[in-house]
Amino acid sequence: MDAAIYRMESYAGLRETMQQGGTRLRSLLRLQNTLIRPIVVEGFGFWTGEDIRVEFRPAPVDTGLVFVRTDLPDEPRIPALAAHRDSKPRQTSLVCGSARVDMVEHVLAAIRALQIDNCEIRVDRPEMPGLDGSSMPFVLALEEAGITPQPGIRPLRIVTRELRVGDEKTWIEAVPTGEGVHAIDYTLEFDGPNPIGNQNYRFVTNPDRFKRELMNCRTFLTKGEADHLLAQGLCRRVRPTDLLVFDKNGPMDNHLHFENECARHKILDMIGDFGLTPCDWVGRFTARRSGHALNVECVVKLENATLLIDESCLPANSELLLKKERLLKKIA
Ligand SMILES: [Zn+2]
Repeated sequence: MDAAIYRMESYAGLRETMQQGGTRLRSLLRLQNTLIRPIVVEGFGFWTGEDIRVEFRPAPVDTGLVFVRTDLPDEPRIPALAAHRDSKPRQTSLVCGSARVDMVEHVLAAIRALQIDNCEIRVDRPEMPGLDGSSMPFVLALEEAGITPQPGIRPLRIVTRELRVGDEKTWIEAVPTGEGVHAIDYTLEFDGPNPIGNQNYRFVTNPDRFKRELMNCRTFLTKGEADHLLAQGLCRRVRPTDLLVFDKNGPMDNHLHFENECARHKILDMIGDFGLTPCDWVGRFTARRSGHALNVECVVKLENATLLIDESCLPANSELLLKKERLLKKIA
């Protein structure tokens, strides 16, 4: 990347510069992807305890990610966009009209990490299956379905100025980076003694690294929090072996995949929540104690602190546009 670009005070003119072929930013653009064939994942919902069937289907260019409630009349569609986020605690939920779908974050993390841009996610309950509390089962299924490029360019948002959301204790900060990466540094921290313990992880978004470092990192809670949910009649089907439940001795009936698995899982959650935007990201993000609500607030506010790079920034003879043309011809 040309670091000088990022030191420019104003980004006005950058799009024009790109059209003239004067910057390497365009090398970060890529073709959109979808699945080669449909694939089904089944499991039960952590919140409702109901059996759930979810089918991932290929979708045309520029469809984005769309949940479809197949159990409701007329199969309503719920676009995976920040504007549809509903404020339910401890998870990311989406609502569109009277249709909703809960706990979408681990599914979105898998889809986004694999750079799948267009996909129909057909589900027969108001919740995604919890499985092992991580993104791994979804990643394995999506890879089995296969991923293929499409004749469309994936837009890219580049952080162009500092942005901070949250308060003194819980916050996310976004800053420009000269390295052309989407980097996340997460610190998990507690006020007093806590069985989970303070921990940190740094990650640079990349499909292979996601599979190696994050995809099997599971959601977690303390025994006290689990007891509280059970007392409310929630999560009754979930066992400590289904995710990470910490008592004073560590994870109950389970073992950690990484010493800092919880901080890694928080980054997985962030990738899922950033998936509620129809673009890739370039920027350096530092987060402390943040969760789903703040992740989405950050994504929404970034609109005013970022520059959108898309197909219009590419010169007509660019290799990427030629690739797109070749794909269009192949399909026709
Ligand atoms: Zn999570």
